Amino acid sequence: MAEALIAAAAEVGIRITVLDTCYLAAGIGEPTAGVQRRFDDGDAQAWAERVATLPEPGDRARIGAAIHSVRAVPRDQLPTVVAAASGRPLHVHLSEQVAENEQCLAAHGHSPTALLEEAGALGPDTTAVHATHLSDHDIELLGSSGTHVCFCPTTERDLGDGVGPSRALWAAGAPLTVGSDSHAVIDPFEEIRAVEMDERLVSGRRGRWTATELMEAGARIGHASLGFDDAGSIAVGQRADIVVVDPASPRTAGTGGGLGTAVFAATSADVREIWADGVRHEAQTLREEAGRALDEVIAKLWETSEGGQP
Ligand SMILES: [Zn+2]
Repeated sequence: MAEALIAAAAEVGIRITVLDTCYLAAGIGEPTAGVQRRFDDGDAQAWAERVATLPEPGDRARIGAAIHSVRAVPRDQLPTVVAAASGRPLHVHLSEQVAENEQCLAAHGHSPTALLEEAGALGPDTTAVHATHLSDHDIELLGSSGTHVCFCPTTERDLGDGVGPSRALWAAGAPLTVGSDSHAVIDPFEEIRAVEMDERLVSGRRGRWTATELMEAGARIGHASLGFDDAGSIAVGQRADIVVVDPASPRTAGTGGGLGTAVFAATSADVREIWADGVRHEAQTLREEAGRALDEVIAKLWETSEGGQP
């Protein structure tokens, strides 16, 4: 599957980081069952051996790793994944819901963050996805190790997960990135904007994140967390990736056309051009092609799914 994804990304002209995920348990102390067996390698050693056979991709792809979560990888297997992922991006879903913290504390006497720290899983190559329900000690561990945190606000709101302490993590030293996670919404502008909007709701104050900081999170820091340290800013030696936003759409008209327009007013529908590694793509054509292709394949998936169409 990793090879198919890398080939598909190359075909449409985008870069990709494949995070091959170690998933060994349905929950703490619960073996996988049913369809989960399809992505269960048996143990971390078998997972590492399989990942090691993947061919090293070219300049436009990276192969990273993921500990799905401390629910899905038993405590004694974590160091094996960490060792195999050395020097590559390592992602892990962390404390998305209160139940994960409660189960982890009951089973191990530690929070999920502390368990990852014990396994040597924290550091600048690691990205903690969600990082929603954290203690002050967890924030300190993530910040002092320089671990990236990836907030997925549209999924977290869709699932009713809560709002993570983005600003406190930043202050502690954990660089912020954003992701879509469940694909509840596909719009990177909405994700970066939502970090600030959620902070406003929680803190009762505006201006917790600046437009510049949010754009950095969405571009340069996001790329770094995926193993691309040469992308995400317009500078000599960086890859030529440019997104051109319409400054006069019904959403952006009259906002001045600056960084604030992109961060606080635009949506993905306002993108006119995309330059990836110096190659220009017409955004409207891509949107139409991608929409039609997705509609077709998702319809087929619903036909074969057990639950039927919602
Ligand atoms: Zn998630």
